[in-house]
Amino acid sequence: MSKPDAYELLGVPRDADEREIKRAFRRRARELHPDVNKDDPQAEEKFKQLAEAYEVLSDPERRAIYDRYGWAGLEQRGFQATARSFSSFGDIFEAFFGSDPFSAFFGGQGTAGRTPGDDIELEVEVDLALAARGGSVDVEYDAVDVCEQCGGSGAEAGSGMIACGRCGGAGQLRQVVSTPFGRVVRSETCSACGGAGLVPARRCQRCGGSGLVETRRKLEVGVPAGIADGQRIRLSGRGHAGPGGAPPGDLYLLVRVREDERFLRDGPDLVTAVRIPMVDAALGTTVTVPTVDGGERAIELPPGTQPGTVVTLRGLGMPRIGGRGRGDLRVVVDVEIPAATDGKARELLESLRSELGGGEANGVRQRAGEAGGGHLGIVERLRRVLR
Ligand SMILES: [Zn+2]
Ligand SMILES: [Zn+2]
Repeated sequence: MSKPDAYELLGVPRDADEREIKRAFRRRARELHPDVNKDDPQAEEKFKQLAEAYEVLSDPERRAIYDRYGWAGLEQRGFQATARSFSSFGDIFEAFFGSDPFSAFFGGQGTAGRTPGDDIELEVEVDLALAARGGSVDVEYDAVDVCEQCGGSGAEAGSGMIACGRCGGAGQLRQVVSTPFGRVVRSETCSACGGAGLVPARRCQRCGGSGLVETRRKLEVGVPAGIADGQRIRLSGRGHAGPGGAPPGDLYLLVRVREDERFLRDGPDLVTAVRIPMVDAALGTTVTVPTVDGGERAIELPPGTQPGTVVTLRGLGMPRIGGRGRGDLRVVVDVEIPAATDGKARELLESLRSELGGGEANGVRQRAGEAGGGHLGIVERLRRVLR
């Protein structure tokens, strides 16, 4: 008995390209799926022939031999069809379409082309101390999960699959849409079967046949040290489950770092301010400043410390995310000047003015910004704060 022609088996012209051949194989194989053809004793043999034809025509070398010498030419060269080496129909399907033939194959374009589950985006708030040391946050959210009762098939136990009534088993719905650029044929995944082309004959009672259920998930998520406000953490596969066995979406955590009244953040650096009395600025003093880890650090300020002086504490800023080391803590010194309107303080300050020989005592009025090194000095100091 001579074997049927490979091109005829697939129903493609002799000059069909790889994509046409692949598409034809999927279409024909779907019709011969073991779940759909339980009662057709010929289905298995038909599928084996089809698979054999596909194995030949999808391989350029084998195809060239077949084109010149036919089936006999391949047999002479030791070709053995994969489909012939299996005893069970289900096993053949598995060999061609993976361990989950229903979803892997009937999804349409294979794993890569199937519509995965939707992504989920959540917002989490952490304080600056946690952002500095790293840690974890607990998140709780609603997500779509695979139904446990039916394992995602949507079928009641013992129920078979039938062709989807909405798309006629194609898995795709074609629609002609009018657009400003003309009429366009749009094809979209059938929502009734999720692109599978098959629906359960009897629906799972738990999920109503969708294979998916809503659940509440709790998750502990690690937050890397040094994370900045507005950065996202991606948790692969933690989004909604995909329809028909498609891969799940991802979970994105938008991290909001709460403002801390003691610190401003400038990249990996932190900026804080300390206020000292005028007299301390003149005489010199020691102040303590808070650090982001909850500690304190003492700083010595020399006599004559000017307002706007910046003291840099190396390595007391934020960790560099994905990098090495930490930023700095920059401390800006603010000087509090008392209003001495009368009394002893005024007397003392007036005699101090005479002693230092400045201002009105000498009949010289200084212009704003010129004290202590002039305007340029102040701008330079600001630059060091804001760099
Ligand atoms: Zn459908
Ligand atoms: Zn179910």
